[in-house]
Order: sequence, then C-alpha cells, then structure tokens
Amino acid sequence: MEVDKMDENEWKYHGEGNKSLVVCNVQHARVLRLLKYSTEDAENSHKTTEQAFRHIQNIVDYSVNVMKPLLGEKFVHNGEAVKLPLDFVRQLSLKVQQERPESRCDKVMDTFSGCALCLPNLTQLSCCCSRAHRPPLCIEIKPKCGFLPSSRHVTKDIKSKVCRFCMHQHFKLAHGKWKRLSRYCPLDLFSGNKQRMSLAIKHLIEEPQNNFKIFKGGECIYSCKDDADVLQDLDELAQHLRPYFLPSGSLLNGHQSSKVVLNELIQVIVSALLSSWDPRKTHPSEGRVRCEASLLRRDLLRNSNHCLPKDCVLDKILGTQMLDSLDIEGLNPLFKRLEQHLQDFPKERSSLQIDGPYSQSFLEKVQNCPTEDDGSIEYAVGKVHQYRVAMTAKDCSIMITIATCGEEDGLDQSLEIQPTKPRFTYSVSILDLDPKPYESIPHQSRLDSKIVNHYLRSTLPNN
Ligand code: ATP
Ligand code: ZN
Ligand code: MG
Ligand code: MG
Repeated sequence: MEVDKMDENEWKYHGEGNKSLVVCNVQHARVLRLLKYSTEDAENSHKTTEQAFRHIQNIVDYSVNVMKPLLGEKFVHNGEAVKLPLDFVRQLSLKVQQERPESRCDKVMDTFSGCALCLPNLTQLSCCCSRAHRPPLCIEIKPKCGFLPSSRHVTKDIKSKVCRFCMHQHFKLAHGKWKRLSRYCPLDLFSGNKQRMSLAIKHLIEEPQNNFKIFKGGECIYSCKDDADVLQDLDELAQHLRPYFLPSGSLLNGHQSSKVVLNELIQVIVSALLSSWDPRKTHPSEGRVRCEASLLRRDLLRNSNHCLPKDCVLDKILGTQMLDSLDIEGLNPLFKRLEQHLQDFPKERSSLQIDGPYSQSFLEKVQNCPTEDDGSIEYAVGKVHQYRVAMTAKDCSIMITIATCGEEDGLDQSLEIQPTKPRFTYSVSILDLDPKPYESIPHQSRLDSKIVNHYLRSTLPNN
C-alpha cells in the first residue's frame, strides 16, 4: 500500500466495534482499522502521532508475539501499523459518517494522528478457487467466554451454574442495551456436540446482537439491525444463501427452502469450527459443562460428549480463555499486590512489562507463571498477564470465509435430476486481538459483581 497516494474514493465503510472503525478497499482485499474515541474523552484521546503509532504497533506486537503463538499460526494474520496523510483520514471520516449506525456514534474516529492498522480483508478470500464464480461468504462469530469458572475464589454459587454471557444478557436488557434476550449460550457453541453447537448458531442467527454477522462478497448482508425493534428477516437471508446451498431446480417452497438453506449454513459453520488436522480430542471442561440458563432439552445435554477436536479454532480460543483460572475474584487481590509493589518500586513497571512491550518475554511471563501462589510478585504479574490474555480471547471474533468450488457448477442446470451437493472450501481466522488495558481490572471486578447481583435479583427473587 502506497500511503502517499491514498485516495478516499478507493475506501468505504466496512464496520466498527467499540474501539475501532474499519474501512475496506474497493479493489484490494485490505482493510484499515482506525481507532475511535469517545467525544467526552477528547483530551485523553488527542494522542500525538508518535503515541498513536506506538499504540497501534503495540497491538501488532501483541497479536504477533503473544496471541498468535497461543491461538495458532494459521488463525492469526499479521497487521501493519501505518501512517496516513491527515487529509485522507479527514476526508474518509466525512465519507463514512453517514454509513455509521447511530448506536455507535457516541464515539468518533481518530482524525488527528493519521495512524491506522492495515490488515487483510478476511471477508474476502485472497487465494480463492480459481473457478469460484460466486462471491465468498464470510460468517463472523464473536463467541465470548465458553466455560464456567471453577476457581475456589468464586464467592457466588450462581457463577458456577450460569455462564457470564447469559447473566450479562439480563443486565444489558435492564440497562436498555438490547431489547430482547439472546438465546445464544457460549457453552453450547464450545461444547463440541454438533446438536448443541447447531442450536447455539441458530440462536445467534435469530438474535445476532454483536455476536454474529454474515458478509457476501465483502458486503455485510446480515447483522443486528440498529433499530432493535425489528426482528431479523430470515427469509431475506435465505434468499441470499439459496444459490450456495440449494440447487436452483429445487422444488421446495419458500418457507421449506429457507429452513433447508439456513440448516445447511449452520452445518457448514459447525464443521468449520470443528475442523482440525489433529485427530485427538480435548476435554476442555473439567467441571460443569452446561449453563443453567441455556434452553436446551435435558436429553440433549445428557448425551453431550463435551470434547473438541484438538487444535480446532474453538479449542485454541477456549484454551486461551481458560488462562483466566482464578476468576476476577481471585485475580483482584493479586492486582492489588502488584499495585502496592509498583507504588513502592515504580521503576519496575517497565521490567515487569505492565504496559508492554508485548515481546517474546511477555509471552514467557504468561507461560511460565508459577502454578501456586508463593506470595511473589512474579506470581502476581504472571496471573495478571494471563488474565489480560484470556480477556482478549473472550472478546475476539472468528471469521469463517467460505468459497464454492467449481464442482458445483452443475447446480445451475435445473434439469439435473440428482444434483450433487455444493462443495465448499473454507478458511478460518481470528481477529480483534487487542491487548486489554491493565487499568481496567478494577472496573472488571466491579462489573462482575454488578452483573451477578443483578442476575440474582432479577431472576431468582427468592434468593
Ligand atoms: P469490539 O467492540 O468487538 O472490541 P473493535 O472495536 O475492537 O470491536 P474489530 O472487532 O477489530 O473492532 O473490528 C470491527 C469489525 O470490523 C469486526 O467486527 C469485523 O466485522 C470488521 N473487521 C475487523 N477487522 C477485519 C478484517 N481484517 N477483515 C474484515 N473485516 C474486519
Ligand atoms: Zn450460558
Ligand atoms: Mg470486535
Ligand atoms: Mg476489540
């Protein structure tokens, strides 16, 4: 990318999260991820170009040196910190403003530093089958935390019965963040049981919130509607997907075919999530593997074989999430121990790598943390680093990009009597791997008790 020849007309709005806004190139499979800041927090956000560049370089280092070894080489793509002409960034900001969902406009795009993260556009395949003639589909899932804490530091019993995501739903509903509860439960998605996983994905489709999106040829065709009153139009989605999953001569009527098409989509997603070269299985959950808030039938849970193929994307993400082994309740005292130590020895902040650099030696601190609390600072730092890494894995997204191979060409011939099933190739990646701030640990601790207390009050009136 030639940064001195940037033209805003070659870029368009692609999407955004809480921290960043993403634009994609109209010709090349590239995106630029620009930071956002809250309008109330303007003074804090006027970083100099050098500070902003350092911040983005930190994200790149963290993703390459820390998250990639933990999550697996093949799932994580390297980004590059870039400096862009300010004029280009300002024009871009004006151009994308009208495309932005209202619910995200409490923050503005950084137009001061000119810095951004350049990444491959994962909604498009860079090396797709040469004969593919349909635009690739891409499914984005933000799976959230897939296990129940088994730490002895947990004080509320409910935390070992109902998962964080399901409890958080009630909190968000009460605070107006969403108008409907999502029936998705991460424990079902991470269960490795195909039936439970299929239901989890069905629930994501029904109420995508921030956890599910579909792109076709790089365009988002399905996501949560800004107007939370509107129910998702599943028939419209099925129309988009029909050519991929159903022979054009199919005699199924509209409603039947929507069901078949969505079911096919779910099956492809399940197999992508479980695909692995390693024939071994892992048993991720030692303790409870079901969430009492999940609406699954009892028999389905009983027959569930809680294991994931080793090194499939879910196994890698779950393993990294489980570095949070103490739960925030066990971590908070260690955070305080570390804070005290840093007050006494402020110079150690850099050697303990509290704010990076996110180098190989940061990863070593994560991986070589003592298993038992020996009262040391090494233990406290190791656990705090592990917790932050786990937080990143609880917040990342999985991208499954699907291309049709040439062999399903026969599908277009409506006279074909026994149409062969379409064949797909897919590639799976993980994105949104930013380091989570050290300073936010006290906030996480307060939020955790708010969510749990709210859940207890709102759903279990007798407790
Ligand atoms: P969150 O609020 O989840 O933390 P964020 O602000 O950190 O989000 P991202 O999740 O990195 O931002 O990006 C926002 C959205 O932009 C993603 O959900 C995804 O749809 C899209 N996106 C980000 N990176 C890429 C990429 N490399 N290729 C394609 N789409 C991308
Ligand atoms: Zn749950
Ligand atoms: Mg995100
Ligand atoms: Mg993020």
